[in-house]
Formats: sequence, C-alpha cells, structure tokens
Amino acid sequence: MTLNQVLSELRAAETAAGRPAGSVRLVAVSKGQSLEAIEEKVLLHAAELPSPVMLAENRGQELRDKVREAQTRSWPPVEWHFIGPLQRNKIKYLQQVSLIHTLEASWQVQAIAQAAEGWGRAPAALLQLHNGEEQKHGVAPEELKPLYHEAVEAGLDVRGLMVMAPYGDPDAARRVFAETARHAADLGLGELSMGMSDDFIQAVHEGATLVRIGRRLFL
Ligand SMILES: *Cc1c(COP(=O)(O)O)cnc(C)c1O
Repeated sequence: MTLNQVLSELRAAETAAGRPAGSVRLVAVSKGQSLEAIEEKVLLHAAELPSPVMLAENRGQELRDKVREAQTRSWPPVEWHFIGPLQRNKIKYLQQVSLIHTLEASWQVQAIAQAAEGWGRAPAALLQLHNGEEQKHGVAPEELKPLYHEAVEAGLDVRGLMVMAPYGDPDAARRVFAETARHAADLGLGELSMGMSDDFIQAVHEGATLVRIGRRLFL
C-alpha cells in the first residue's frame, strides 16, 4: 500500500473510534528495508506526515548502519525509534534513538541510564507490557510500577507503554490493548504504542497514540 492509503485507513479508524484526526501517529517500521525503499515508500510522501518522520528498527547494528548512511543523504528530518529486544552488548548502537519502545527489565534501565551519561543525552522510553499469552518479552503487570519508578529514579523519561497483541485474534488483541491502556492510565502515562499492520484498527479504538506499521506500508 502507499503511505497515503495507510494514512487514510488510520484517519478512518480515528473517526470510527470518535477520536480527533491526527491523535494517532504513524511509526513506519523500516526494519529489513533498504534506504531506497524508505525513501520511495515513506520519505517521498513526508509532507503527509508530521515532522520529524518516525522510523523504527529492531536490530542494533542495522539501526546504527542506517543512521550513519542516512546522514549522508538529504533526507527530511527523521527520528529513529527502537522496537527490538534490548541486548546488553547492543545498547551502544542506540545513541541516536529518540524513543525506545521495549524497556522490560531493571538491568536495561541501568544500562541505558549509564550509556546515556556517556552520550550526553537520554532516549525517551516506553515500558513493554507482557501480553498475557505465551510470549518471551514484556513486563508482567505487577512489575510495571516498580520498574517505572526505577526508570524515573535513574533519570529516564518514561512516556508510556508498548504492547504486542497475540497474532490472528482481533478480539484478544482488543482486550490486550484495552488492558494496556488501563495500566498506562494507572501510572498516569499518556503514550500508548500499540497496533501493527493487522491490528492497528483495534488499537486505535483502545487509545493507541503510536501505531507501528511495517508490512502494510512496504509490501
Ligand atoms: C515488525 C514489527 C512491527 C511491524 O509489524 P507489521 O506487521 O509489519 O506491521 C511492529 N512492532 C514490532 C515490535 C515489530 O517487531
């Protein structure tokens, strides 16, 4: 699909959910895509998006390489997000990241806070909530509050929650999104990164502020 088509779907979902136009922002998931594909599918149409354009990657080295290469091109302003599992020896690649969506452990809070001192800046972060099904990643609901407080004490700017819904079951996805929104409200956090190509409509209905779209945009 083109960016325009994806954006019209997003606007339609906002309207159907009774939410103001533009209350949900598109994060273009560029993992596995070449810079040329990013230019053709996203940046060529950057006028349709708020600036800076948000691009998300899930692997440290790929992110670092793309950031470097992008700096040699005349791109409109972009900001990079990280949506992959955080690994200790790869945090060093995240220096240019604006928002980490996948904070899920105490050691990660400490490692990012420490790296941020060296960088002279700290990325903002979201805590990834476990989705209740068999899943490797995410914080258990009862661990959210302690981890949130630890992150804030470590100086991190925690803005909200991220979740990945179970695949292939829209009703289950919607329940997980609703639950995630409730936890964010409990913590007083406003940012909700939820919804991907197959379930972003449900996510918009449940209050997503960021949807992470890959395949629908690039395939
Ligand atoms: C790949 C990925 C996406 C995008 O998924 P699509 O189904 O391609 O839209 C979103 N979030 C995370 C964490 C991902 O790894």
